[in-house]
Amino acid sequence: MERWRGLTADEMQLLETTFWSAGGSRHGMAERLGFSRSKANALIAGLVDQGLLAEAGLQRSSGGRRAENLQISGSLGVLVGVDIGATSLDLAVLGPDLQPLAQHAEPADVGHGPGVVLARVRVLMRELLAQCGLDASKVMGIGMGVPGPVNFQIGQLVNPPLMPAWDGFSIREALREDYAAPVFVDNDVNLMALGELWRLKRTLSNFLVIKVGTGIGCGIVCHGEVYRGAAGSAGDVGHICVDQEGPRCHCGNVGCVEMMAAGPAIARMAVHAAEAGESAMLAERLRAQGRLDALDVAHAGRAGDAAANAIIQRAGSLLGQMLASVVNFFNPSHVFIGGGITHIGPLFLAAVRQSVYQRSLALSTRHLEIQYTPLGAQAGLIGAGVLAMQETLKVKGVAP
Ligand SMILES: [Zn+2]
Repeated sequence: MERWRGLTADEMQLLETTFWSAGGSRHGMAERLGFSRSKANALIAGLVDQGLLAEAGLQRSSGGRRAENLQISGSLGVLVGVDIGATSLDLAVLGPDLQPLAQHAEPADVGHGPGVVLARVRVLMRELLAQCGLDASKVMGIGMGVPGPVNFQIGQLVNPPLMPAWDGFSIREALREDYAAPVFVDNDVNLMALGELWRLKRTLSNFLVIKVGTGIGCGIVCHGEVYRGAAGSAGDVGHICVDQEGPRCHCGNVGCVEMMAAGPAIARMAVHAAEAGESAMLAERLRAQGRLDALDVAHAGRAGDAAANAIIQRAGSLLGQMLASVVNFFNPSHVFIGGGITHIGPLFLAAVRQSVYQRSLALSTRHLEIQYTPLGAQAGLIGAGVLAMQETLKVKGVAP
């Protein structure tokens, strides 16, 4: 694209800061970057002329003066965010300011393999773009989250336990046929962390995002950046052992926290309680539906079922046991818990907190806050959009 040509380091910094400050004022931007006002204004004027920045409405500043807010120009095109979960598919077309322009969610099974899932993704991407009156040429970047370990540099999954057929499959190649735009792939929990970091406008530097769904994973934000580790598998906490006598996990070890506290484990405990005659309510639901999931446990718990509440308590306590070690090791200021588990309600969170505070060192927990992700179910999609925009800026910013 012509308008990206020959940008200076200062201009790139201004674009990135604009994106991360999500509609900040030009004055605030100058301050944050340590630029003089005249320097910032000159840079901004140039970038507005080039069609890279846009002035977005007026903001009444504290002094009563009017200062224009800035954003990445919508005329540059759109981003596509794709969040592939173990059992779900979420897509959105987003503006450069990450406002969703069109969005879609449906159940899916990653176990069907990349051919089936990505064929569906391609159809849905086309449909969503059509809803916005756009075609593939208007897409400037694509961000995709997948529920397994990713080699971020090449955008491929590496030995993903939940989706073995995806091992070494090139998602980029699969989308290259339809899109000239760059495709960036990351682990789904890393994207949730990126989404929260953007929501927070980078005001927190060291925090964790834990996703509890079909599996358990952890996104790490360290010094204001998502930390991926030497090979991209940082935060793979699901296979930390919380019970030496626990059940065997699909990874081959026993007592992994994922095997004992994630959605399927909660469902298993519920079936056991129903069949053992510990809960009339769960037994009733099992008879009616033929199966139970974590949401059934949540419903029964809210209705006062003691066995259901004991299951929630146990799952939360085991997750907290794992988390206590991680908190001692990393000393985050916040832990945000997301994924399907958040629908289970406050009792789970209370059990996690109690377990963490009991087992962590006083210094690690003095200011520690543990809460559900404020972005909720949107965290992964927003994160996919952040990844797409952030990495597209990096790619475009390199002199041609
Ligand atoms: Zn395991």
